[in-house]
Amino acid sequence: MNMKFKLLALVATTALAGCGAAGGGVAGVNVDGMMAAGGTALKAASLSDTDVKTMSDDACAASDKQNKIAAPKSKYDVRLNKVVQGFSPSLNGAQTNYRVYMTKDVNAWAMSNGCIRVYSGLMDMMNDSELRGVIGHEMGHVALGHTKKAMQTAYAVTAARTAAGATGNAVVTNLSASQLGELTEKIINAQFSQVQESAADDYSFDQLTKMNMDRKGLVTAFQKLAKLDGGAGASMLSSHPSSTDRAQHIQQRIDQNK
Ligand SMILES: [Zn+2]
Repeated sequence: MNMKFKLLALVATTALAGCGAAGGGVAGVNVDGMMAAGGTALKAASLSDTDVKTMSDDACAASDKQNKIAAPKSKYDVRLNKVVQGFSPSLNGAQTNYRVYMTKDVNAWAMSNGCIRVYSGLMDMMNDSELRGVIGHEMGHVALGHTKKAMQTAYAVTAARTAAGATGNAVVTNLSASQLGELTEKIINAQFSQVQESAADDYSFDQLTKMNMDRKGLVTAFQKLAKLDGGAGASMLSSHPSSTDRAQHIQQRIDQNK
């Protein structure tokens, strides 16, 4: 997800609508930089699941520190916990852990360590079914390995620029605060490819089907985001597949019941 756009003078980060923005690959990959770092890209590609989890733990903690988290038992916290009831308590072997960030930004994301963050701005515009559909989509990016890939790319770029990868060690997970900040920013703002976005949509649909929960919310969530697209300016509409197409795809699956 995460294409930034202006909405009522706020810089908001979109949820699903921005997901397909780049139409191929993860954002911000600087091939020249990776080449110059000599082998860093290879190391990044070989980050183990444990490395990815460790760095996700750090990135999640860094992000939490920078954001205002809804207090336990607060309205938002209670609602989020209610909405995610039924989802598996683990994601790729990691225990899921949900928090609400109190911000007008419209966003949600998940990391490979089970860290799932939902912004109050998104919660304000979505009903429970829609919210569940969006969260399922974000979980899909983790379950399907997209976030791991995004982490590897972010690490390669960060390591290339900061020489973290030039130490000869297999992987440097002990990043400096600024490196970690950069890495965190990159993961949260990772842009997934069109194929990845569609796959995450289908993952969410399949999960909702399995849980016997309302799937129409995934359609109306996209429709709401499509409206945001239009209202927020043409740049949002460059996202592929468009929110409208994605809503139609899910509606088709509902109609065909498969
Ligand atoms: Zn996405």
